[in-house]
Amino acid sequence: MSHSNLSSKHIHNFNSGPGILPKEVVEQAAVSLVNHQNSGLSIAEIGHRTSLFTDVMEEARQLVRELMQLDDEHEVLFLHGGASTQFMQVPMNLLDEKGCAAYADTGVWSTKAIKEANLFGKTEVVCSSRDKNYHYIPKDFAVPNEAQYFHITTNNTIYGTQWKRIPEVSIPLVADMSSDILSRQLDFNRFALIYAGAQKNLGAAGCTIVVVNKNILGKTRRSIPTMFDYRLHIKEKSILNTPPVMAIYISMLTLRWLKSQGGAAALQPINERKSLKLYTELEQNGLFYPLVNNAEDRSITNVCFAIKEKALEPVFSSFCKENGIYGINGHRLAGGFRASLYNALPESSVDYLIEVLHEFMRIHG
Ligand SMILES: *Cc1c(COP(=O)(O)O)cnc(C)c1O
Repeated sequence: MSHSNLSSKHIHNFNSGPGILPKEVVEQAAVSLVNHQNSGLSIAEIGHRTSLFTDVMEEARQLVRELMQLDDEHEVLFLHGGASTQFMQVPMNLLDEKGCAAYADTGVWSTKAIKEANLFGKTEVVCSSRDKNYHYIPKDFAVPNEAQYFHITTNNTIYGTQWKRIPEVSIPLVADMSSDILSRQLDFNRFALIYAGAQKNLGAAGCTIVVVNKNILGKTRRSIPTMFDYRLHIKEKSILNTPPVMAIYISMLTLRWLKSQGGAAALQPINERKSLKLYTELEQNGLFYPLVNNAEDRSITNVCFAIKEKALEPVFSSFCKENGIYGINGHRLAGGFRASLYNALPESSVDYLIEVLHEFMRIHG
């Protein structure tokens, strides 16, 4: 076994999801799990309609409003079921049986969203990057004006691509932002509906954030089951039934942390620097290469790469494990490796990963 010069004192978490949380968030959550706000009760055992919890929910909602600079038309919801439930809840609320919804197919998550929408109405796939295993963002396409909405996946977690320019459309724009929400500045009010599983960039698994322009609701003729009706969740302030209390609490703490860092405006340049450093290294290091060629399409949150010599793949995997790098293996559908650089991942972890790549190159290059 070759000897490595690296010394890792702790684990660097590059996992794609559930992703890294800020250390202070985890520490505060641990305190509240035992004794929430000196109530003598765990956050996991308090009544969800008591002020101990409704204060948490209210603060979380306000933080989303503030961090996303939402106008009064937009409502913020905290729901169950993950982003995958939104694949069906969106068309259930927005798509008529005889209507049509436009979708951009930029990866497996988009494909799954399209499949669910087809259960409720018609879909038109207006563009797709499937021909190159989803390693680019489609550029020239037209969105039909009669479609009831246009759905995009702003960041393709598995393939490492990201819409840098959000398409301009005249119909309601719906976005799955699960892996890049609040990692960069966007005009969030431009979207009719945004959803994101919290476990990647915003908190803990078990809660999904939905931001919806209330004016687009109530237009389909379909009867919507209670738990899937956005209007009822708005009315009950996301406490239609027992919400995922612990997950919402951790998300609220993460939102507080985001605010303390200066929000997306402050984090975007850091995230850009983190990803650019790593992409530059991958281009210059003779052993590895980035999987997305077009620099403009490269995700700032999920950096996908591969190793030129296939046989070294398991060797690099073990090398990472030995040296405190966690969660770097690529998704089985994309292959190779993936470093997820979410908001909570410190720049020093990226610097360390670059050192690890150098060291691996020194030994095996
Ligand atoms: C992870 C992910 C999902 C699935 O999220 P769940 O909360 O597990 O349902 C959907 N879309 C994108 C873009 C993702 O990254």
